[in-house]
Amino acid sequence: MIELEGLTKYYGDTLAVDHLTFTVLTGIVTGFLGPNGAGKSTTMRMMLDLDNPTEGTVRIDGKHYRQLDDPLTYVGALLDAKAVHGGRSAFNHLLCLAQSNGIPRARVGEVLDTVGLSSVAGKRSKGFSLGMSQRLGIAAALLGDPKILLFDEPVNGLDPEGIHWIRNLMKNLAAQGRTVFVSSHLMSEMALTAEHLIVIGQGRLIADTSMADFIHRNSRSYVRMRSPEQERLLDVLHGEGIEAVAVGNGSLEIDGVPAERLGGLAARHQLVLHELSPQQASLEEAFMRLTAGSVEYHAHDGEPVTARTGPPEPAQGGWGADWRKKGG
Ligand code: ADP
Ligand code: MG
Repeated sequence: MIELEGLTKYYGDTLAVDHLTFTVLTGIVTGFLGPNGAGKSTTMRMMLDLDNPTEGTVRIDGKHYRQLDDPLTYVGALLDAKAVHGGRSAFNHLLCLAQSNGIPRARVGEVLDTVGLSSVAGKRSKGFSLGMSQRLGIAAALLGDPKILLFDEPVNGLDPEGIHWIRNLMKNLAAQGRTVFVSSHLMSEMALTAEHLIVIGQGRLIADTSMADFIHRNSRSYVRMRSPEQERLLDVLHGEGIEAVAVGNGSLEIDGVPAERLGGLAARHQLVLHELSPQQASLEEAFMRLTAGSVEYHAHDGEPVTARTGPPEPAQGGWGADWRKKGG
């Protein structure tokens, strides 16, 4: 478990991290989402004691990072994949790390195998592609078999196969009971990996919520129907008091009625359907809306409302965060 309490970081006049308070739980993948410059990397560096907070604390199972015995066996991290001594082979890079942290040599071969770099273990990492460097960075993070893993934008620059591999790896690590904290600036990436979501913008906490709840609250779901007998379909729907909106290309969009009911109706009226498909509006849009700061959330119901003047209501319920337009 990682606990942040009022964590704040100024770089000169720049407020990079602004009183962040949240907890990262064990046994799930927690996504750490925010646009570029939101303060994700700074927060992660402070978690690892690589940067000093201006204010506030980070505790890892109740301790400061520097109070942990053998930190590499406790917390593994991938921060900057290119921060590797390029002249060393992948094997030697990991061996040095292992030896200076009391980790058995045999573990090096194991992690190289896990990340799929065994065949290039003897090659200098200088010549590695970004994807291979990411894999090597992940091997280093896994070396001490840590309970807690931090990955900062691990999918950046990876090909689809690599992205798929990392997603599964993170899920498997969490399923083994580890704490997995992974940052991204892409909502779509988080939606496929994370079970819990922390969203920040301009250093501030915007949302602290389960992914399911985030999706539920932020994506409009509707059903798309298409029929060569659209007029008759509209009559049937209207007869049932169901509102349908015709969008170009002969499709209808229906909110708030399950596809099962619509399919049943069509069948009873012997209507030919060419399409009956549940749809979800893009989460990416919801995320951009959230971080743009142009709307704010009622903490108690999570529904987006247009910006109001005056202070926001106190945080309650699922969001765990009051948030308001920065500086407004
Ligand atoms: P993210 O990882 O979400 O893209 P960062 O944590 O890298 O965001 O950056 C947050 C803010 O802090 C940015 O405005 C960035 O320019 C600033 N910042 C980050 N590191 C430093 C540093 N070492 N010195 C000065 N400013 C920094
Ligand atoms: Mg970053």
